[in-house]
Amino acid sequence: MAVNVLVIGGGAGGLCAAAAAAEAGGRVTVLEKRHTPGKKLLATGNGRCNLANLGVPRYEGDASFALRTLRAFPPEKLLRTLNSWGLQLTREEERVYPAVRQASAVLALLTERLRALGGTLLPDFEVKELRRENGRFTAVCADGRTVQADRCVLATGGLAGGSLGSAREDYRLAEGFGHRVTKLFGALAPLETDTASLKGLSGLRLPAYVRLFAQKRCVQAESGEVLITDYGISGICVMQLARRTKELLDQGKEPYITLDLLPLLKGEGVPYGPLPADFPDSREEICSLLEKRRRLLPGQDILTGLLPEGLCRKLRNVPLTELPRALCAWRLPVRAVRPLAFAQVTAGGVGTGDVDAETLSSRLCPGLYLSGEMLDVDGACGGFNLQFAMISGILAGQNAAGDLPLGKGT
Ligand SMILES: Cc1cc2nc3c(=O)[nH]c(=O)nc-3n(C[C@H](O)[C@H](O)[C@H](O)COP(=O)(O)OP(=O)(O)OC[C@H]3O[C@@H](n4cnc5c(N)ncnc54)[C@H](O)[C@@H]3O)c2cc1C
Repeated sequence: MAVNVLVIGGGAGGLCAAAAAAEAGGRVTVLEKRHTPGKKLLATGNGRCNLANLGVPRYEGDASFALRTLRAFPPEKLLRTLNSWGLQLTREEERVYPAVRQASAVLALLTERLRALGGTLLPDFEVKELRRENGRFTAVCADGRTVQADRCVLATGGLAGGSLGSAREDYRLAEGFGHRVTKLFGALAPLETDTASLKGLSGLRLPAYVRLFAQKRCVQAESGEVLITDYGISGICVMQLARRTKELLDQGKEPYITLDLLPLLKGEGVPYGPLPADFPDSREEICSLLEKRRRLLPGQDILTGLLPEGLCRKLRNVPLTELPRALCAWRLPVRAVRPLAFAQVTAGGVGTGDVDAETLSSRLCPGLYLSGEMLDVDGACGGFNLQFAMISGILAGQNAAGDLPLGKGT
């Protein structure tokens, strides 16, 4: 007899869980609190949906949990699975996108796959209470409707993304079975910095090396495009520093960022990515570049034509001897990490100690599975978060519907 599987949450992870459970023979119902599923999925990658990354996995929170999950179902297998469901994919270096570069195509495919396999999606069904009695789960909707099933996959997501995200009370569904939730904060978020040196530059995009310092030591370095805003700085390489910055701020260590503009001065874009913390700053190269310009433009402002107008004006009065430092170590003390509403992923979540990394089954409640952003795992930019949500969702769905003994991994 088919197992009834309830999936709570119709996001990337929940829809993958549902399709996998239906494919494994389960009778699946997805409960989604919004009127339409996949709202956050539609916003990913600026609507292009960077859904996986074939490079070295970059996870925080319980990173080893994420790696065990990825060993059980490697990213290459995720791509083969999505492909077998009908999604054409393409790569930009290690990052994987749908070939049409539209998140809406991924959402349409997942919902269509669920429908084709006989699954049901119930929108406007906000689960307020989840109980397990006599071996069966009952999900209670805010308006009093109930749905019952043998197994249940929780895929309610995280708090990041403001109106795209879930609410703190959605974690209570897991807490109701004894699961603990660690401190929740935003990872992959812009930084609020001292704005004095940024005045008049809002909107500028500068390719740069970006370093995070605490107590004169560089603790993390990234490269990429920095976006100047009226509150501080943003851009993928900056957001990548948010998690570590938050830890330093909480420890009272007064972190600051330095921008090294060598890529801009050389007229090169930089791909975003991590740099070693001891990656040398560009002072020597900038010195020789400025020396060449001094010979080329004697008596002229050597920055004209090299830097954007607003930045030129700011640096015009800096003595020549101090320019290399100003250009390779533009110092921005950090005041705060932007709140969760502006973050792309939630750091913290349901503690992984009570969840099996390979089956995603709860160690506290037989028949319950947990997946995606609600867990204490967060990834770097570049597809790692959707990848984890989808892979953990598929494993949860397969195991929930499979004929494994209830509570495997307990
Ligand atoms: C702007 C933005 C851009 C991003 N871009 C990328 C990217 O390019 N690549 C990448 O890898 N990651 C990206 N992310 C992160 C990624 O979108 C998430 O990590 C991922 O969607 C998490 O999937 P999930 O299924 O766990 O949660 P979600 O996708 O958030 O789905 C959870 C679902 O559960 C529903 N739900 C919650 N509570 C209940 C309840 N009580 N009852 C019923 N339903 C409920 C929600 O309405 C939601 O539909 C981005 C995030 C943001 C905010």
